[in-house]
Amino acid sequence: MPEKIPGFSNNFVGELSSLSFQEICFEISNKFLSEDILANDINEIIEQSINFDAPLISLENNTHILELFHGPTFAFKDFGARFMAEVFKHFLQDSKKEVIVLVATSGDTGSAVANAFYRKEGLKVVLLYPEKKISNLQEKQLTTLGENIYALEINGTFDDCQSLVKQAFNDNSLKKFKNLTSANSINIARLLPQTFYYFRAFQQLQNKNDELIFSVPSGNLGNLTAGLIAMQMGLPVSIFISATNLNSVFTEFLSTGKFTPRKSVPTLSNAMDVGNPNNFYRIVHLFNQKIEIIKNIIRSKTITDNETIETIRNVYQKYDYLLDPHGAVGFKAAIDLLLNDLSKKQLIILETAHPAKFSETIKESIEKEIDIPPGLKSCLQLEKKSVKMKSVYNELKEYLLAV
Ligand SMILES: *Cc1c(COP(=O)(O)O)cnc(C)c1O
Repeated sequence: MPEKIPGFSNNFVGELSSLSFQEICFEISNKFLSEDILANDINEIIEQSINFDAPLISLENNTHILELFHGPTFAFKDFGARFMAEVFKHFLQDSKKEVIVLVATSGDTGSAVANAFYRKEGLKVVLLYPEKKISNLQEKQLTTLGENIYALEINGTFDDCQSLVKQAFNDNSLKKFKNLTSANSINIARLLPQTFYYFRAFQQLQNKNDELIFSVPSGNLGNLTAGLIAMQMGLPVSIFISATNLNSVFTEFLSTGKFTPRKSVPTLSNAMDVGNPNNFYRIVHLFNQKIEIIKNIIRSKTITDNETIETIRNVYQKYDYLLDPHGAVGFKAAIDLLLNDLSKKQLIILETAHPAKFSETIKESIEKEIDIPPGLKSCLQLEKKSVKMKSVYNELKEYLLAV
């Protein structure tokens, strides 16, 4: 974590309207990075990475969807992965070092990181994903690139993948031979660019004086952590809703005060199937371990798969808008918690992936096939290339030493 979260003056937040999205990204990045990266280079990093928008779509006067899937892999992970890849490139450009980026993925991180680092010199990406626990399309996205991208299909859960990755980072005998870095949301270079779109969302709101509520579909809690950082920087948010699926360790923490990680269970919103959310400790740290303050700012609710399907169907019928399963969890949790009482409030639901990434679930919900955008379809014809591996650390270590 940064030692200190830099703040903006009220003026900045008030004057957001006159800035372009990339200008907003620059102002935020400059606050965090100006000691380490020249302004021109920060600009270059943003131009190369944040070259797509986060539009706010209004369903009602006070209910909005923030679409975060307009990047190349159709999920919000593109913001973090692309920005981080450019930061790495910046720091590696004059060195002869080779770096291995090691990532555990519950679905969308892997494809975003693979796409962002594809063919970048001096960088190899090793992705660990849980066998049979991600959608067909997600798997194709991360296993078909090849070249400097290596996909490992782990016989286990996302948490097993994450634990293997952590063991590698703690293994000094491995680090003697290989330069390893993480690309999970445990890496701050991925978290920072996720604050950008919270400001962009606020900029697009008409009624800026109403109470602002964000609903965040949550798994590893990276997206939520970024929102909390944005708030500490000065964005006037009153409540965050952390929407979870049956992997509800964080929801339980907020009601019982006890954090009890456990094995994850598979759900339709698979990118949120996390039983031991890493960013939990960051959130606690952001609020100086003051659990009462955390409870005042964050509400949480668990949504079942049946409710997810129902919500996709209801929202489609009522608004002619198609949510993906993750966004549906965010929508349903917010509506349940706010009990439709939205007077003097503005609710923004983060839509974290394009629905076409989950065409099977969408078909079950609305009883119609949906069109897959060309940028998503192209990988379906390609051949999957992955290495199957047991969830055993020594196997990963041998692989990494040889890669
Ligand atoms: C990763 C992901 C999430 C969960 O985000 P966290 O930062 O891990 O809480 C939600 N939705 C989608 C589509 C994702 O890919």
